[in-house]
Amino acid sequence: MYRLMTGVELSEMSVRQLRARGRRLAAGLSDPDRTLHGVLLREGRRCSSRGCRCQRGELHGPYAYLASYSDGRTRTIYVPAAVAAVVEQHVEVTQRNETLLAGVSLINLELLRRRALG
Ligand SMILES: [Zn+2]
Repeated sequence: MYRLMTGVELSEMSVRQLRARGRRLAAGLSDPDRTLHGVLLREGRRCSSRGCRCQRGELHGPYAYLASYSDGRTRTIYVPAAVAAVVEQHVEVTQRNETLLAGVSLINLELLRRRALG
């Protein structure tokens, strides 16, 4: 995982170094078509059968769910086992790209402070 540099670290870099680092971070972006924002959860569930073991705490599952935030609220979507690995890869790629983009933004902020954004 990429470590985001602090404002102090960035302030000690030259404009040339900042631009090179920004390009390097941007070059690490991958598979934007796999973007999927959310957190993959695995949870046990209770069914509605009376006397079922789950009513005593032995839950069914665990089943995978994707908790995804959009339009101001979090929705939880069931993830079938057959696609859980694919969803996990999408979520990982997305988090990695988000970290890289956050790094690019910090660099561009520093360049803006120096009136060197171009
Ligand atoms: Zn049950």
